[in-house]
Amino acid sequence: MNHVVQHPSAPFPIAGGALVVHQIPMGHDNLGWLLVSPRTGGCAVVDGPNALPYLDRIAAEGWQLRAVFNTHIHGDHIGVNHALGDQLRDLQVYGAAKTRDHIPGLTDPLEEGDSVTFEGANIDVWLTEGHINGHLSFITDGAVFCGDTLFAGGCGYLFDGPPATMHASLQRLAQLPGTTRVCCAHEYTMDNLRFAWTVEPSNPDLAARIRAVWQLRAAGGCAVPSTIAQERATNPFLRVNSRTIRSRVGALRESQTSNDGAEVFRMLREHKDLGRHKTLADSALPLLDRRRNG
Ligand SMILES: [Zn+2]
Repeated sequence: MNHVVQHPSAPFPIAGGALVVHQIPMGHDNLGWLLVSPRTGGCAVVDGPNALPYLDRIAAEGWQLRAVFNTHIHGDHIGVNHALGDQLRDLQVYGAAKTRDHIPGLTDPLEEGDSVTFEGANIDVWLTEGHINGHLSFITDGAVFCGDTLFAGGCGYLFDGPPATMHASLQRLAQLPGTTRVCCAHEYTMDNLRFAWTVEPSNPDLAARIRAVWQLRAAGGCAVPSTIAQERATNPFLRVNSRTIRSRVGALRESQTSNDGAEVFRMLREHKDLGRHKTLADSALPLLDRRRNG
């Protein structure tokens, strides 16, 4: 496996211990999520470009696959449905009602505000659009499975947009409890933080996060999941009220209207799409804690 993550993050409990979450690196940089009941061994997968890494793990542990959750219909998320083939017939398949024609094996079309019980865990369903229409996030006590909406240190591309919709989705996710783990679908964290540093170099929490993620990734670890509290403190796409960020994207003149944050978000996303941050030298990153040197 030639994956950007060599050492997956440690498993952790959610929903009061009803489920344990296992991170399964898949493809090149996709992060699959396996939700396992420690009581029954019944498990569900959340997205994925293929099925084999899941099935190998499930077989090795003696678990039973019972459900598939799809956040959205991009190929690296519903690829797992295609790959499961005939096995899908025995499973609950959860996905957005509005994209029902594009989700193989869909048994449970979901709408905004629905909730699902899986192995005793309550899972709330939010429509978090902006990356693509019909994008869902699955929320349970302790974690959010947010697909390609919120990333560690960044956010997804705006295929369908519009920016105001993505901004609203991100602001809503940011209201979750700070300890909520952000289980997004890709390990893009260092690239995201490199961009973040170009727009908010005065943020000491961001500097500390860059140092920590740099070390973790250099050792082959994964910076996902992060927490909502970390994202609120350092993710520029959640920080559209930062004067530094507004200034950097040329939005400081904007008035404090209700749409203002969405406009800053739009400029920020466009700014990142230019890709100029990729040329920021490592030496320009805050990789040494200069406070120690007085
Ligand atoms: Zn996607």
